[in-house]
Amino acid sequence: MNTAYCVHCGKQVSEFATLCPFCNKPVANPHAPTQVSAEPKTWKRTSHAKKAPVGIIIACLAIVVIAAAAYYILKMGG
Ligand SMILES: [Zn+2]
Repeated sequence: MNTAYCVHCGKQVSEFATLCPFCNKPVANPHAPTQVSAEPKTWKRTSHAKKAPVGIIIACLAIVVIAAAAYYILKMGG
């Protein structure tokens, strides 16, 4: 008897179930553990890679805002 676990919520579901009864998401092939273990890795990598560009974008925006503010202050003063 095989047991399968939902890759979305991690709860035990029937090996014949195609839809998870807990989160109503399609259960990935329970007989392909390679695919199941690969999914969280990709998600982790994507979320980690997303973090860096956001910080760079915020830093660039801050520089642009500061430069614009300095420009207007100088323009008003002069
Ligand atoms: Zn689920």
